[in-house]
Amino acid sequence: MIPFMLHDIITILRAKVYGINPMIEDVTTDSRTIGKNCLFIALHGTRFDAHFFAKNAVLAGASAILVNRQLPLNIPQLIVEDTLLALKQLSYWVRKQVSARVIALTGSSGKTSVKEMTASILRQCGKVLATQGNLNNDIGVSLTLLRLTPQDDFAIIELGANHIGEISSNANLVLPEIALVNNISFSHLAGFGSLAGVAQAKGEIFTKLPGNGLVILNENSNDWLNWQQGSKCKTVWRFSLNKTDNVQFFATKIVSNLHSMYFTLHSPQGSCQVQLPMLGKHNITNALAASALAIAVGANLSAVSLGLSKVKPIPGRLCPIQLDVGKLLIDDSYNANVNSMIAAAQVLSEMPGYLVMVVGDMAELGEKEIKYHQQVGKFIAMVGINKVLSIGNLSYIISNTSRRGEHFNNKSALTNRLIQLLLKYNIITILVKGSRNTTMEQVIQELKEKS
Ligand code: ATP
Ligand code: MG
Repeated sequence: MIPFMLHDIITILRAKVYGINPMIEDVTTDSRTIGKNCLFIALHGTRFDAHFFAKNAVLAGASAILVNRQLPLNIPQLIVEDTLLALKQLSYWVRKQVSARVIALTGSSGKTSVKEMTASILRQCGKVLATQGNLNNDIGVSLTLLRLTPQDDFAIIELGANHIGEISSNANLVLPEIALVNNISFSHLAGFGSLAGVAQAKGEIFTKLPGNGLVILNENSNDWLNWQQGSKCKTVWRFSLNKTDNVQFFATKIVSNLHSMYFTLHSPQGSCQVQLPMLGKHNITNALAASALAIAVGANLSAVSLGLSKVKPIPGRLCPIQLDVGKLLIDDSYNANVNSMIAAAQVLSEMPGYLVMVVGDMAELGEKEIKYHQQVGKFIAMVGINKVLSIGNLSYIISNTSRRGEHFNNKSALTNRLIQLLLKYNIITILVKGSRNTTMEQVIQELKEKS
């Protein structure tokens, strides 16, 4: 973070100030994570009003608080009308002071994966600031920007969206030079109404690019993105798994084993061999997107190849766990939408032994949710997975449509069935997946404990 004196930001935030003028070297919105010389910002959310935790922040050693009313606490206070707006204004002020090359990325799936891959490549070239974990909403984006320092060479910012206008307003803070929409699919449909709505929401990321900026697009989601609308930017690079006339980034000679994929990556700079320690062809597409982003800000092919070889599987995203000899568990429990369910089923179908897919519901799919669950069930039947174990009202449709399903009402019963299957088959691969609210990681945890 760039240190500042509390009184330096009064004008920027149009704040009233009470108390002395401490040096601020850290900002947090969480009273449990107060660092040295820390400003605590009390946000007023739908579920919590953090003004009630301001006292805890003070007890934990905060140097000052940013609040929407003066509190009876003996500590320097900045008073503003809207503390969330103040957080954004502060992050914008920091963003304007740094010279790092800033990349923004969004998409229906794979944002965090692409972000981690891009960061790993760019760490071969300089100092990188990247979104931590999945902090991709307006608060997370602002907190990420606040961590920027003048020493950073690159910043990679993940932007999520639940509604139209969200990405546009966050891109206004990020001011990216390069922007990517990784893909467009049926995730969060409930918030957008249609695929065109999803495309519109994601495409907002391009509206803040400068004229000499760069748009990076997935060739397969291209139809949905009227990216030129509202964007000054003229240059576009495209990527897709397979070569087409339009794409600059594609892959050939793909082979895989239980833990890694190997391929030749083609780019405008030439081609290189890549060993990617992740599973799933969609992760090769993600790696192509990451390479495009990194090359756009100056990475060369050796950095691409080395950076991608150092990527670590992300917990919950197709993460292989060897339970025993011949018994592989793939933890894809982090989240699910139609695309990523299908991608996961494809990965599983290429694994050894008896194949079991454990599915929880896919959430937020709107009025066509039954149809989308049927679609996944049909795909599972087509690629030849041996058994589907489902839990949840909607995922029942997946196991039913796949015609190889068993349905469960609780996770313990489901895990016990998995243990039986593990005992029965010498070579077996189990993949576990469901939307975030189905907490399918509990199945992974129980299985690791019991097997
Ligand atoms: P969130 O919206 O929760 O931030 P995200 O876009 O950051 O998600 P990841 O966390 O990288 O995405 O991956 C989430 C899920 O999507 C994982 O199950 C992963 O296997 C799957 N996935 C990742 N990349 C792709 C892709 N390119 N196409 C389809 N599915 C993908
Ligand atoms: Mg994410």
